[in-house]
Amino acid sequence: MHAMVLDAPGQALRREARAVPEPGPDQVLVKVAACGVCRTDLHVVDGELTDAKLPIVPGHEIVGKVAATRARVERFDIGQRIGVPWLGHTCGACHYCRAGHENLCENARFTGYHIDGGYADYTLADQRYCFPISGDYTDAQAAPLLCAGLIGYRSLRMAGEARRIGLYGFGAAAHIVAQLAAHEGREIYAFTRPGDTEAQDFARGLGVAWAGDSGQAPPEPLDAAIIYAPVGALVPAALRAVRPGGTVVCAGIHMSDIPSFPYEILWGERRLVSVANLTRADGEEFLALAPKVPVRTTVRQYPLDAANQALDDLRAGRLQGAAVLIPGA
Ligand SMILES: [Zn+2]
Ligand SMILES: [Zn+2]
Repeated sequence: MHAMVLDAPGQALRREARAVPEPGPDQVLVKVAACGVCRTDLHVVDGELTDAKLPIVPGHEIVGKVAATRARVERFDIGQRIGVPWLGHTCGACHYCRAGHENLCENARFTGYHIDGGYADYTLADQRYCFPISGDYTDAQAAPLLCAGLIGYRSLRMAGEARRIGLYGFGAAAHIVAQLAAHEGREIYAFTRPGDTEAQDFARGLGVAWAGDSGQAPPEPLDAAIIYAPVGALVPAALRAVRPGGTVVCAGIHMSDIPSFPYEILWGERRLVSVANLTRADGEEFLALAPKVPVRTTVRQYPLDAANQALDDLRAGRLQGAAVLIPGA
């Protein structure tokens, strides 16, 4: 088998031939059919997240078939299509795990960061954190559901009952959340990089109420805003765009520093919160909901060998929707 490997931050991924690994207790061997390219992968590759196991195989939006299991694995059959998300392991014993907040587990391990991920022909995963994948989606279309979809879903829930919602950064997560929000009767206001008319047209094509530049004020005050772009300067911009009592949700794992801002834009009981990781309950809820909406993902497919190109395209904003790697393509 082949894998795309990161040896050190700042380097290009290197194609490596490896032996197909053997599943350990509770693990399944997954023959990867598609793996989404998430902005978090860029943060790992660029060294903005500093806790990676190195060398590491990135990728945590994995769709594939179970190729081998151990005797203890009962949740999935050989040949069944499953998804492997970012949350790869939790301890089950810490305060957060016992309180139902496994997304905050002190001993959590994450796929493609601490555990080799899906930029490979095969990967191992702990079956307790995997999900069955609905037949409504092709492998490539399903892949972005595993993180852009899951984190998007969690961030939308953090926005509460908001009706008018601003999305800052209209990439993989936002294009899924826009569909979920419309299904729930909410209005979406899409904010893109200044002058990115392609992304604004893409957003309008998904039925948003308004699309414009991130520096613009929305035509009406927002009930909530969700920030997907890793740009700290968007925090004060979003606070200015939400009404008193509104919520600003930071949905990414990393952001550039947030510039100082006057207290008056937070005052008025505005709330500023972040979203961290996912719980297995988030995954079960969202993956049951997605085919009912139905959420349709826009994907650009790359062969596994072109992982560096896919990362470059994501970094440069040259994509609409999500990049997906296809091993064996
Ligand atoms: Zn824990
Ligand atoms: Zn992700």
